[in-house]
Amino acid sequence: MNTSHNESIPAAPVQRILAAAMFAAEKHAAQKRKGAAAEPYVNHLIEVAQLIAGSSEQLDANLVMAGFLHDTIEDTGTTAEELEQAFGSDITALVVEMTDDKSLPKEVRKALQIENAPHKSVRGQVIKLADKISNLRSLLASPPANWSLERKRDYFIWAQRVVDGLSAPNPILKAEFDRTFARFKG
Ligand code: ZN
Repeated sequence: MNTSHNESIPAAPVQRILAAAMFAAEKHAAQKRKGAAAEPYVNHLIEVAQLIAGSSEQLDANLVMAGFLHDTIEDTGTTAEELEQAFGSDITALVVEMTDDKSLPKEVRKALQIENAPHKSVRGQVIKLADKISNLRSLLASPPANWSLERKRDYFIWAQRVVDGLSAPNPILKAEFDRTFARFKG
């Protein structure tokens, strides 16, 4: 029987994923991407979640949800307690793992990302790779108006150093990262 036009799958994980998407969309509603096109920030979150969903045959629903939520603590003041209440401890731990300490200077945070990359959990590394792919893609498609070529190059090289530090990179996403990196002409 061909079910491709009306495939029936369990609703619960899809409902949970969409609840995470809605939560993230509301939390980031006022935020734009830094690029000249000033896209809604939620575009980045959807892209990260899509990359995670495409990184394996079997869907890790919590990981896709954490993809949607990965910047909520860092960028929107959402607390870990709030995430725990709404989505449970597994997803909260993943989001906390993705959260930089914004009390530190930016250069220190960037150095720490390189230093900490090898120690991230295997699932955390999937989010990290998806995040870096999305950020490089957006720098290629719509860089911030005031970024020089050198600043873009520095960012690409920094992102590559973070990714090179991952101890267990997902092969599908690593290949996509490499393709994206290669598109930078500078
Ligand atoms: Zn992000």
